[in-house]
Amino acid sequence: MTCPEMKNNLAEVVYESRPMPDEIRNHLTKCAGCTAELAEMEATWKLLGQWQAPEPSAFFDAKLYARLRTEQATAPASLFERAKAWLMYSTNLQMRQLAAGALAVALAVGGGTLALVDHETTAPPQTSATVRDLQSYDGNAQLFQQLNALDGDEDSGASN
Ligand SMILES: [Zn+2]
Repeated sequence: MTCPEMKNNLAEVVYESRPMPDEIRNHLTKCAGCTAELAEMEATWKLLGQWQAPEPSAFFDAKLYARLRTEQATAPASLFERAKAWLMYSTNLQMRQLAAGALAVALAVGGGTLALVDHETTAPPQTSATVRDLQSYDGNAQLFQQLNALDGDEDSGASN
């Protein structure tokens, strides 16, 4: 077995916990490079086993749903707004450059009128979902106390 072939087989042995075939065992006795590779894979695998995903903050869900409701309550975005948002948050760099060019062309052709009209038609929601959420939490003293504690964390020592 060659060293490149070993690489794939070692991955199966380590990551899928398969029994080590004699062919691999034999190669390992003769090849220091593959032995080192195996040790590295095992160390990485062991480390991954110890890794723990960080817990989200206590109010992550509440905040997330409040923001989602705010988005739902907002008037649907125009094509221009959606294109702009997609352009800002898309991770595909090549497509972003293409879209930026297309948007520039659209603006040049349509002129500023498109942006002006768009600005007038999007009305802000009357009450934000966050405010409504906070109002519903009002009766729960314990929850409110925790929210204050959270606010204190975010201000990091700023006096109110
Ligand atoms: Zn080898």
